[in-house]
Amino acid sequence: GQCVTACPCGALDYRRDKGKVLRAIHDNKKTVIGFVAPAVRSLISKTYNIPFEKTSAFMAGLLKKLGFDKVFDFTFAADLTIMEETTEFLTRISNKGVMPQFTSCCPGWINFVERRYPEIIPHLSTCKSPQMMMGATVKNHYAKLAGLNKEDLFVVSIVPCIAKKYEAARPEFAPDGIRDVDAVLTTTEMIEMVRLENIDVSQVEPQEFDEPYRQVSGAGILFGASGGVAEAALRMAVEKLTGKALTDQLDFEEIRGFEGVKEATVDVNNAKVRVAVVSGLQNAEPIIEKIIQGVDVGYDLIEVMACPGGCICGAGHPVPEKIDDMEKRQQILVNIDKISKYRKSQENPDILRLYEDFYGEPNSHLAHELLHTHYTPMKGDSACNTVRKKDNSTFTV
Ligand code: SF4
Repeated sequence: GQCVTACPCGALDYRRDKGKVLRAIHDNKKTVIGFVAPAVRSLISKTYNIPFEKTSAFMAGLLKKLGFDKVFDFTFAADLTIMEETTEFLTRISNKGVMPQFTSCCPGWINFVERRYPEIIPHLSTCKSPQMMMGATVKNHYAKLAGLNKEDLFVVSIVPCIAKKYEAARPEFAPDGIRDVDAVLTTTEMIEMVRLENIDVSQVEPQEFDEPYRQVSGAGILFGASGGVAEAALRMAVEKLTGKALTDQLDFEEIRGFEGVKEATVDVNNAKVRVAVVSGLQNAEPIIEKIIQGVDVGYDLIEVMACPGGCICGAGHPVPEKIDDMEKRQQILVNIDKISKYRKSQENPDILRLYEDFYGEPNSHLAHELLHTHYTPMKGDSACNTVRKKDNSTFTV
């Protein structure tokens, strides 16, 4: 009914999305495509008692068993985001554009800015979130490659985040009335679907994610925890600014962890790149207030994630019992990064091929059309989104 479509926070979609996905799976005309966010991995590893290095293969097999036709890795979109967002950042530096640049990959944070601090919209990166970049890429690039009609694809993202449900339903992400992401399942909902369909998890055959977005970098994996976006961006920005391959100093440990605000300063060619990482919206407010007053906050790039600790603590995960649990979740992502073949987004061969075959180059005209967006001031709007606080209570923005 009307109330359902008008619900701005996605809470009602929470119930509907599982049904929509099951209907698409049983519709022969639909090709059902799933992509799984990196932060989901740590929880899957724990729920099904799978060693972390085997969770990707297990998840791909599990979704195929549920009836998905293709399963892609969301981490690929994290790499794509880094290519676009870091290029935008470097362009702002060279063109003396609006600084500091805020990241834009967390829809909880975007809602907060649009509703409470629209004055700082020019500071937001114009990049869509990884979820929406992946949706647009699948509906345009993959559809073309596979010779399928856009409307016959049913794209599902599996994420730890309720705010992403609202994001996927925004009208600007449904060009020509066809949504880029048709349904959003939280980690919890995916586990519920597995139970609902009586899937015997011991029968799951592990398999690789599907082509053409199979290869991912360790930098993309880090997106799941607070500091990951900034760390991945630094791995590219420093390399581009110095013109030299970054080989040993790949870890920026000072911006990992669970404090509300973390900082790093990196010396590049006698200049400094100053990065701040904020988790928890209340920790962003003092910085925003200063920017609005015209005070130099001393940063060039600021990552903000609404959930304290980042997506590994997203509201779509079952309640984390202790902080210690969150640390373990983060450690899992750090370990995957360490053993990754590619540790920088700009080295991912599938990303390089996507640019060669389709987008041209980062921030190209087509990339702007499909991978970037605009924001709308909505002061006074009562729309809400749920994020989780450190004490496990949730609040809305
Ligand atoms: Fe969603 Fe929280 Fe991650 Fe933001 S930090 S994208 S609100 S899970």
